[in-house]
Amino acid sequence: MKVAFFAETTGGKITRGAYELLAWSRRLAAPEEIAAVIVTPSVDEAELRRLASSGARRVFLCEAPSIDRADIPACAAVLRSFCEAYRPDVLLGAASVFGRALFPYAAMQMKTGLTADCTMLEAEPETGLLLQTRPAIGGNVMAVIKTPGYKPQMATVRPRSAPSPAPYSGEPGTITRLPLPEASRASGAPRTVSSARLALGEELADARRIVAVGKGIKREGNIDLARRLADRIGAALGATREVVDRGWLPYSAQIGLSGKTVVPQLYIALGISGAVQHLAGMRTARKIVAVNTDPDAPIFQVADLGIVGDLFEVVPRLIEEFAPQTK
Ligand SMILES: Cc1cc2nc3c(=O)[nH]c(=O)nc-3n(C[C@H](O)[C@H](O)[C@H](O)COP(=O)(O)OP(=O)(O)OC[C@H]3O[C@@H](n4cnc5c(N)ncnc54)[C@H](O)[C@@H]3O)c2cc1C
Repeated sequence: MKVAFFAETTGGKITRGAYELLAWSRRLAAPEEIAAVIVTPSVDEAELRRLASSGARRVFLCEAPSIDRADIPACAAVLRSFCEAYRPDVLLGAASVFGRALFPYAAMQMKTGLTADCTMLEAEPETGLLLQTRPAIGGNVMAVIKTPGYKPQMATVRPRSAPSPAPYSGEPGTITRLPLPEASRASGAPRTVSSARLALGEELADARRIVAVGKGIKREGNIDLARRLADRIGAALGATREVVDRGWLPYSAQIGLSGKTVVPQLYIALGISGAVQHLAGMRTARKIVAVNTDPDAPIFQVADLGIVGDLFEVVPRLIEEFAPQTK
């Protein structure tokens, strides 16, 4: 099985998500059948060598200062011309903020299917087809999907669901430069994922501390209170779907079944009831602190420290408590 994956970059570095895709690829195929595709305004040479010596035997790089790293038509055009030439059986991307925008667009361009947000990938022994597992029906069942009639079989994979990669001591890979296809330049108005959305998403995925808000925050303007707490303790800001659906924070801030999975050291849940779909994305946080007026809120069942109280009274006191101390 020839497996390729789209390796995202940020600030010249290859993301952790790319290495997670490499780990999945190594589960599915032998190193000589694994290729990485990078489309970026610039990337550090040492980063490319590290990827090439971690089991990606072919690294295809389209480096063009003129493109935004979040330029969907340009990245899709590169993926398309790469797939026409290299003909991978499987093309993987991260279910990151950008991957979730790019992959449906690229799949449509290549007239193939896409399974989004997979948590497990396997090869079917009899057919060699990709078995793509993802939660369905509100997380109540795990659906196994295959794409027998179309190539490449495309899937995005939920961050942090990758198996730990086995150490790689084989031959390092080669790096091949790809041109930016003409089609990408002629694609009209650029469609990019805004850098603010990307930054919020990336910040959350890697955050050691998270302050998350639920509907108990009551209105958009009150989110500043949570943001002040987050700033005070160096935390990223996350949210429940209720908050995102109301447009108070962007989708990239959503934590849970249909949002991000996060594993911070500290998770402070403010006005969050603790629905199973939210818990699915944060219950493995190291320490969970919950503030809720309802003593029976399910969030208290997973909290290490529960504060039954009004967040509008508790949060200002927490901010004060964490104030830089003067003697
Ligand atoms: C298929 C599917 C996927 C979903 N995916 C996700 C997902 O990815 N992420 C997600 O979060 N949800 C998801 N949901 C929605 C989920 O079921 C819940 O509706 C949602 O998590 C509830 O958000 P909430 O806790 O903000 O709101 P609510 O459940 O309404 O809870 C608000 C809480 O705030 C408390 N409160 C009110 N005022 C205050 C105050 N002043 N101080 C302190 N506490 C207060 C209340 O007691 C209450 O417990 C999904 C649902 C479905 C069906």
